[in-house]
Amino acid sequence: MNVVESLAPRPNLRVLITAGANGIGLAIAKAFLEAGARVHVCDIDTKALAALPKGITHTQADVSQHTDVDRLFEEAAALGGLDVVVNNAGIAGPTASIDEIDDESWTRTIDINLNGQYRVAHRAAPLLRESQGLLINLASVAGRLGFAYRTPYSASKWAVVGLTKSLACELGPEGVRVNAILPGIVSGPRIEKVIEDRAAKRGISYAEMEQENLAKVSMRKMVEPTDIAAMALFLSAPGGANISGQALSVCANVESL
Ligand code: NAD
Repeated sequence: MNVVESLAPRPNLRVLITAGANGIGLAIAKAFLEAGARVHVCDIDTKALAALPKGITHTQADVSQHTDVDRLFEEAAALGGLDVVVNNAGIAGPTASIDEIDDESWTRTIDINLNGQYRVAHRAAPLLRESQGLLINLASVAGRLGFAYRTPYSASKWAVVGLTKSLACELGPEGVRVNAILPGIVSGPRIEKVIEDRAAKRGISYAEMEQENLAKVSMRKMVEPTDIAAMALFLSAPGGANISGQALSVCANVESL
């Protein structure tokens, strides 16, 4: 296999993606489908699940619920094993100062963004040992930077990087790779809501907040969901076979948020 060929994942990979019905998860699901993979996703958005492209199977499951995650793995067993598991589910959490944050929104953010990834990793590990597979955890550049008024989100994503590095150390000797992808500011409805909430908190307009965010990005533009999907495909391809335990940013020199 030459280097160019090594950039494509082998066909018929068996891939599980959490929160795959919208946004980044959907872009990753479509990219794997186009690469010839068999793809199973979960999500809580029943309408979006029903609208998934033909060929992607799904389970309605909330990663904060152990019984849902059990059912997800039962249904994904139809793939006959798993080569790649993408821990993508994550919520934005509250936009609030440390004085305003309440226990419920703090706990919910950690429960979905961190504990949800643990629940999936725990069930995926035996399957990935069997396939010598790959676990990809979606973190964020907020998992290596501070993010004012968004402490629960940032803390959860720093923790995802720790989860990734520890699992990579533990599972690497057994042939399983574990990496985190850290997206920068990705275009889509989610970031629009974050900009809106932060603008309100700062008492500035949406346009001013957006401009302030983009001024911190060297290329002055947002990342696209397909850019994240491209990184997931690369990690799954033979060319990525010696990459593990890494926190890979897909962004353009974001120095702060
Ligand atoms: P999104 O909000 O566009 O989509 C999230 C999906 O998650 C939705 O389909 C939603 O129904 C589903 N979901 C929410 N809670 C769930 C749960 N408990 N169980 C299962 N599914 C659930 O999000 P996105 O922007 O596509 O982000 C995907 C991942 O990338 C997240 O982990 C996010 O933190 C991370 N990320 C996003 C950005 C960004 O700018 N959008 C930046 C950095 C990191």
